[in-house]
Amino acid sequence: DAFTDIRLAGVSYAFGTQTVLNQIDLRIPAGTVVALLGPSGCGKSTLLRLLAGLTRPASGTITFGERLVADAGWAMPPEQRDIGMVFQDYALWPHMTVEQNVAFPLKMRRVPRAERDARVARALDRVGLSAFAGRKPAGLSGGQQQRVALARAIVAEPRVLLFDEPLSNLDSELRDALCRDMATLLRQLGITAVYVTHDRREAEILADCIVHLSAGRVDAVRSVTSSSGET
Ligand code: ADP
Ligand code: ADP
Repeated sequence: DAFTDIRLAGVSYAFGTQTVLNQIDLRIPAGTVVALLGPSGCGKSTLLRLLAGLTRPASGTITFGERLVADAGWAMPPEQRDIGMVFQDYALWPHMTVEQNVAFPLKMRRVPRAERDARVARALDRVGLSAFAGRKPAGLSGGQQQRVALARAIVAEPRVLLFDEPLSNLDSELRDALCRDMATLLRQLGITAVYVTHDRREAEILADCIVHLSAGRVDAVRSVTSSSGET
């Protein structure tokens, strides 16, 4: 189907003289949910930013399916990569309603009104927020806002989903519930996803495979046997 594998070959990244990522080789099969797990400062966000096209590698190549998306000094811009992103701070537009926030990526792609409405309704239904379509983000809880961000990330049916610590601003009860819901949703979508976290529990609930990063290197890759979220 439309989903894609992701390959990194010899990817390095540096800030000045500091090596942040050191020769990363990684293959993420199509439809796999991978958690990037590791302590603060190990390079997780940098790796995600490289996948998103927000920065470019010093060396190595990144490919999505057959498409080269970055090599040394070059990066395909984010809007051409067919990705959806969910950030820690939700990054919703406060002046827009929930519905308008979710519709925005489709407006950018000039999807016709009728199809847009249908897709927005479906995305809101998937995250359980159909009843909140007309609200502004400020009227929602943190968990609900993050569900809106998730709906916005999936509405254009991207080939890859990228998550940067999406639950770390939520209290622990909400975090657990939303984590399990996201695991279920990702399974339903069957999409390739990369999920950055420093929380081992989250990684185990969500991911098919956990990539441990340590000081800019892949330390270990471990598949998760029971990723359904049931314990
Ligand atoms: P993580 O997401 O695992 O916490 P990051 O990818 O954010 O790690 O950072 C990896 C390393 O790069 C850290 O040592 C951090 O201090 C450094 N770093 C990140 N952003 C910058 C920046 N803008 N300028 C200089 N160093 C940075
Ligand atoms: P996160 O892992 O959530 O991205 P970080 O603490 O790693 O948070 O980084 C927060 C921001 O600060 C990032 O935009 C990063 O680029 C920047 N940053 C991190 N470390 C440094 C550093 N040593 N020098 C300059 N900027 C940094």
